[in-house]
Order: sequence, then structure tokens, then C-alpha cells
Amino acid sequence: MHLADHTTRSFAAALDDVEVGVLPVGSTEQHGPHLPLSTDHLVAEAVAADLDHDAATVLPTLAIGVSGHHRQFHGTLSVSEETFERFVRETVESLADHGVRKVVVVNGHGGNIGALERAARTLRAEETAFLAPWHWWDAANYVIGHADQHETSLVLHLAEDLVDEEHAAEAEAEGATSWGKTVHGASIGFDTADFSESGAVGHPTEGTAMLGEDLLEESVAELDAFVDWLTERPFEDLLAEPHR
Ligand SMILES: [Zn+2]
Repeated sequence: MHLADHTTRSFAAALDDVEVGVLPVGSTEQHGPHLPLSTDHLVAEAVAADLDHDAATVLPTLAIGVSGHHRQFHGTLSVSEETFERFVRETVESLADHGVRKVVVVNGHGGNIGALERAARTLRAEETAFLAPWHWWDAANYVIGHADQHETSLVLHLAEDLVDEEHAAEAEAEGATSWGKTVHGASIGFDTADFSESGAVGHPTEGTAMLGEDLLEESVAELDAFVDWLTERPFEDLLAEPHR
């Protein structure tokens, strides 16, 4: 059950069973001319919502992430890495205060990774909580693009009305085939606008609702297995190894 749907008393009672917090995080940023700005948080929220695990409680979604590299495209919202890291860390600290000290961040946005890893290291070093950054594309085993066939498929499955399919061909034709820009060994693709005219990376025209359904199912199965793994381990066993 979602934490926010409880009353304070029913949540207190649920704490007998709850071992793991699940925090969906994403972004609100351009996803080419065919996908909604909500894509990353829509997907993260859906993966978390489909998890049906007695030992897990799902937290409210953080819908704005680290997206400064998409800022040239209208509608993109962003906070700094520091702000995002701190927001995640303090949110997890407040959950740990109620006794839930194992947390999975279900992440939908590549730009959040650095901040999530730093938050996780700090929480572990301080022995406040064990925070595991978990990216749905790793769970579904695919190489990340942007507004590509995988993300297009997921939004077609989750919210078909929000996909402007007429513009998928343009997204692909004026997009990039891989992420970033390298010149003589120097990685100089700082902003998406440096290497993709449409904002997309990958093959959005290959997206289908059926592929989206499969990706969601694979991701949720991996998340469920990871929550099992976390549940089986005492918190102390997840902390850093002692000196040797
Ligand atoms: Zn995305």
C-alpha cells in the first residue's frame, strides 16, 4: 500500500510488516516532439505502483529531477544535483526515523544517477539507511537512449493519449542514434541540444504498446525480486564492511 494513502495510525500498524520503502523518482523534461514531459516520472511511478509486495510501501513520486542538460527544450523543469541529492537523502532520513531503513529508489531518469549514488553513500556511511538506486532500464536489460523505442513503448502502454505518434518519425529523423558527442576522444556533448536536433536519441518509430507492456512486466519482476533480497537481509548486514 502507498504510504500516503494510510492514516498515521494505519501506517503505524503496517510497520509490523513493512521492511522496504520504494521511492519513485523521475523528471519533467523534454522527450522529443512525440512524448510527454512526464515520461520519466510516469514510468517510474508505474513500475512502483505495479509492485505488489507485502513488505514494501511506496512513497509519493518525486517528479522533478536533474535535467539541466535538457534546458534548451521548452517545458523542461530542473533542480541542481545538490538540491536533488539533499531532497532524496532527507526524505529517506525521515522514513528511517519511522524504522524503515531499507529503501529502493525506482529511478526513471539517467540525469539523477550521480545525485542518487551520492545520497546512497552518505546514508550508508552514516548508518541511517540502506538506499539502493535502481534504474528500470537496467532491470529490463537495455541500453539507455532518450525518448527512444523503449520509452515510447512504455508511454504507449501507460498513457497512449499522451503520445503524439505523428511526430515519432520526425523525432527519429532529427534525433541521434546514440547518446552524447565525442570529438577526438573528448566527450563534449554537455547538453542534449549539442547532439540531437529533436531531443530524441534512438528509434522511437519502433515503439509499440506491446513492447511497453513487456518492459514494464520485466522491470516489476526484477524489482519484486530485489525487494525480496532486501527483506531477507538484516539492516546491519547491508552496512559497509569493517576495516580488515
Ligand atoms: Zn526519459
